[in-house]
Amino acid sequence: KITVVGSINLDIVAHADRLPLPGETVMGGALALYPGGKGANQALAARRLGAEVSMMARVGRDAHAGQALALLRAGGVDLSGVIEDDRHPTGVALIVVSSDGENQIVVTPGANGALAPEDVDAIPGAAICQLEVPLETVEAAARACEGFLALNLAPARPVPDTLLTRADLIVANESEAAFYGLDRLLAPGKRLAVTLGARGAVLYSSGVERARATPPAVTPVDTTGAGDTFVAALTLALLEGRAEADALAFACAAGAAATLHHGAQSSLPRREAVEDLMRR
Ligand code: ADP
Repeated sequence: KITVVGSINLDIVAHADRLPLPGETVMGGALALYPGGKGANQALAARRLGAEVSMMARVGRDAHAGQALALLRAGGVDLSGVIEDDRHPTGVALIVVSSDGENQIVVTPGANGALAPEDVDAIPGAAICQLEVPLETVEAAARACEGFLALNLAPARPVPDTLLTRADLIVANESEAAFYGLDRLLAPGKRLAVTLGARGAVLYSSGVERARATPPAVTPVDTTGAGDTFVAALTLALLEGRAEADALAFACAAGAAATLHHGAQSSLPRREAVEDLMRR
């Protein structure tokens, strides 16, 4: 059983020929609403890959909440730890995507920013955390977690060494790893995975490189959610006791599988889809 303590957002995506300049209005094409937030994406990714998952989070008491929670609910993620906040709206990511695939994103954290240490209950098993909720709350989750703790350092922001030391697995992408510095992330001597987009990922353990994996070649449609899927898949595979190289290859294939459809959550792969991709 895995508990995810983190963010739930509604992603509001407008497609336009090009991104607007400051002060400019451009006419857009289709508008799409996608459930998102790193916490929610990682929770649903772990669930789709076969884990029992519960979430501790906050949403607003508004219409966006229902849309943000729809796929988590349909997927069977336990939402009894999700609090409806009376004073803050559901978190929203406002996204503009241009025809050449560039994007512009503003995130209003809303209720995610109000997720407090007191909202974190006992976590008897494993936990996954990211940095889209207040740092004190991530630290409270790290203390409450009695089992394996996976910490995804996204979005990159300063964290204390105590948090890095507590994590059994740290996951960062290339730019996040550069923000913290590889030496600092390796210092606690546990596991560190650095993802490299289409080039795959590297896994370090006890300060040394243990495995490198390349994802199967795919033609990506939308890479949103690939990093979140990687985090969930690697955590799950390590919890299942798979060997490090094997777990890393599984996580890379899962990340690649998440790039094949639009939106973060609708594209999160089931285990069979990941295994099929690995056999190709
Ligand atoms: P983030 O989205 O957090 O920046 P990455 O872009 O590094 O994370 O992607 C995470 C993982 O997803 C990669 O390690 C890789 O396995 C997979 N992935 C991402 N982009 C691609 C791609 N274009 N082709 C194949 N796999 C990809």
